[in-house]
Amino acid sequence: MGWFNVESIHTLDEISLDQWDLLCDGCGICCLYKVNDEHTSSTYLTRVACRYLDMEQCTCRLYAQRQTYMPTCVKITRKNVLELDWLPETCAYRRIAENKPLPWWHPLRGGRRGLVHELGISVRHMAVAEKHADMNNLARYITENW
Ligand code: SF4
Ligand code: SF4
Repeated sequence: MGWFNVESIHTLDEISLDQWDLLCDGCGICCLYKVNDEHTSSTYLTRVACRYLDMEQCTCRLYAQRQTYMPTCVKITRKNVLELDWLPETCAYRRIAENKPLPWWHPLRGGRRGLVHELGISVRHMAVAEKHADMNNLARYITENW
């Protein structure tokens, strides 16, 4: 597992391609289905996980091809990160874009991989599998837990 000194990073522009994925803490929250309110244009997270999310590891089972198999999968970039207001406040991409420090438990701040699950921040044991959800009524799964 790689590491770099995130304390010296102030903007996402300073992060190399090699470092980019290391920012992800593996919470899996961005892999929950979202519901758009067409009246307010607001987007809400649901508790239902994308079919490609490994719900125990909270990782994508098709990461390299994710947007081929899941066209609604949103790739987080320097350009769009501040528009994705459904990203959790803990998400490192969001925090750096908002000029905030990473949380103490983040692996790049000395926390270890897995703490995100132990602290109950990830979707592990919290999300609903797509096969068990009423996909015609996703709105019933809207949650503000994240
Ligand atoms: S919300 Fe952010 S930290 Fe969590 S899995 Fe998605 S990209 Fe990674
Ligand atoms: S395709 Fe993979 S990265 Fe994209 S939402 Fe689904 S699980 Fe997450």
